[in-house]
Formats: sequence, C-alpha cells, structure tokens
Amino acid sequence: MSDLRELYQEIILDHYRRPRNFRRLDNADHHALGHNPLCGDKVEIWVDVDDDGTVRDIGFQGAGCAISTASASLMTEAVHGKDRMTIDDLKRVFLAMVKGEDDPGKDTVDLDKLEALEGVREYPMRVKCATLAWHTLASALDGAKSEKIVSTE
Ligand code: ZN
Repeated sequence: MSDLRELYQEIILDHYRRPRNFRRLDNADHHALGHNPLCGDKVEIWVDVDDDGTVRDIGFQGAGCAISTASASLMTEAVHGKDRMTIDDLKRVFLAMVKGEDDPGKDTVDLDKLEALEGVREYPMRVKCATLAWHTLASALDGAKSEKIVSTE
C-alpha cells in the first residue's frame, strides 16, 4: 500500500510540475472558467468537440494548488478522444472516489491514472480542488460556444 501511495504521489507531483495540455486552444468550440474560492484555485478550459460529441482536443490554463493543477492535467489526458457518455461516467466515478462515496458503476469504469487522486478523500478540504476541473469541463461541454463561469461555492 505504501508503494502505491508513493506512486500516486509521484503522478500528482509530475502533473503539477509539468501539466499536460497546458495551453489555450484558438479554435475551441467550448470554453469555461472555474474557480474554487475555498483554496483560490482557478482553471480555464478549452474543448474542441467533434460532430459526434468526441473530444478532439482539450487544453487548460490556470493557477492553483498541486491537487487542482494535477487533477486538471490528469483530466485532460483522461477525456481526450472520449465521447460525452464515457466522460460523464468517468466524472461520476471520479467524484465518488474523491468524496469517499460508493458508485455502483465503479467496476465498469477504468479511472486509470485518475486513481492517483484517491487519497484526496482523506482531506475533505481538498475535495473541491480535485473536482474543480471536472465541473468546469462539464460546464464547458454543456455551454453552446459561450463563456461560462463556474464556482464550487
Ligand atoms: Zn486547491
């Protein structure tokens, strides 16, 4: 278990120091801003979606704590090339994991590297840091090519 924790720690630090897809998309279909006032995390997400609803490209920028940055980075990798239904499943199971709740669908959804954030459930103050990017993504995908501002409060 401690080996696993170390590995998870490494993944989080790696994504915090070298966030993936850390860029703005010039021709994004969807865009949203997220803010977690509790911690001061800010994230901005751009998504380019195919006609069939598949995420063709995604980028984010922002400033926040290690958990929020790593979570946004891991999220962009997890949803790239996925359709909306798969993304909604990932989001639901991920949220349940970090909140320490049980999700009946968890055995059918592979969180892969997102499991690195499992330890967040032991720190209720940090849950919103980990979920910010996912709420912001959902808002971006729901929005019809318009800007939206999301707050976790
Ligand atoms: Zn935070």
